[in-house]
Amino acid sequence: SGALVQFRINGHLITPDFTISEADKEIVVNRIKSLAEMDTAQSHVAADGNFSLNDIEFRVNTYPCGETYGEKVDIRLQDSKNNLKRLEDIGFSEADLNTMKDIVMLPYGIVLMTGPTGQGKSTTLYACLRERGCEDNVIVSAEDPVEQRIDGATQSPIKVNTENEKLSWTFEKAIRAMMRQDPDVILIGEIRDKPTAKAAIQASQTGHLVFTTLHTRSAIGSVQRMIDIGVDRNSFLAEMDAIISQRLVAINCPYCLQRVESKYNRLLRDKDLARLEEGRYSYKSNGCDKCSHTGMAEKRLPIVEIIKFSNELRDFFSEKRGLNETEAFLRKRGYRSLWDKGMDLVVEKKLSLDELCSVLTPDEEIGMASDTEGAGED
Ligand SMILES: [Zn+2]
Repeated sequence: SGALVQFRINGHLITPDFTISEADKEIVVNRIKSLAEMDTAQSHVAADGNFSLNDIEFRVNTYPCGETYGEKVDIRLQDSKNNLKRLEDIGFSEADLNTMKDIVMLPYGIVLMTGPTGQGKSTTLYACLRERGCEDNVIVSAEDPVEQRIDGATQSPIKVNTENEKLSWTFEKAIRAMMRQDPDVILIGEIRDKPTAKAAIQASQTGHLVFTTLHTRSAIGSVQRMIDIGVDRNSFLAEMDAIISQRLVAINCPYCLQRVESKYNRLLRDKDLARLEEGRYSYKSNGCDKCSHTGMAEKRLPIVEIIKFSNELRDFFSEKRGLNETEAFLRKRGYRSLWDKGMDLVVEKKLSLDELCSVLTPDEEIGMASDTEGAGED
């Protein structure tokens, strides 16, 4: 009995050796709920709330578990100061950083950021906007929600009213309205539907640089995803500047590195194994005082895949392409997948194979097949 407390640090779940007693359980839950201005009398429905302390925002949500068990409380901490990073501070390799800086300075077009949630997409997008700068650019956003405030930018939270469509503030409406505000750069929180996708393309066609996100696992999969949403293939391709896909990985603590033969070796392809020491050894930290016995360095690092669009690539995608064909085409032009770049970090002893395999698979490229399989054209 009592309540279990768990922390998720850098994506890893850690269970400390203390619990909250049965007697204190309800007091603690109610205290958190009242701080977050939630109704403490209601414990049979899920609810959300938030509060902040010392510039740290606590996003609270509850999940009802029945009278005997009470509620599960989840608190997400967001450090509003530390999260606003510069591109230099995120941890990109020098080559990737330079590519990102080139993309940020483009005059118009669409930059798509893809990847699962919790992989630092927003942090990277905000860093891109800061890099572009608000001094000589009008930057306007529509977001759901606005996660960080950027000095000098105009940011608008989306609010959908299900009862009255007229009172709904949707991505599509926001994009149409912001066009009258004469922006240089716009940020659209997410493309979820055809009207938003079409409005984004039109914004780019009229000379704006558009940053936005799309829920796909892989960069290449997002071309087909946009077509599936229902936009015209050629108008979309004409506006595409770049697709960026990102994962965050926990980095080995440098003080307690151990040479290991990972059980994940069996997942590797021969060309990956050939990169390991003696064809089988990689490195993993097993915890020390310096890393509070987590085996992780304080900061996570991004693995990033960037596809910059050239006219040659636009021509290539002008008809539906198979994945193997696409990969072969890109590889010939120097493309390296997320997995390849993750393996670089493994070889540099910064990343354990276990951590890499927890976010990616060697045939992630093949995995793209499921993103697009059976997808109809238009
Ligand atoms: Zn350590």
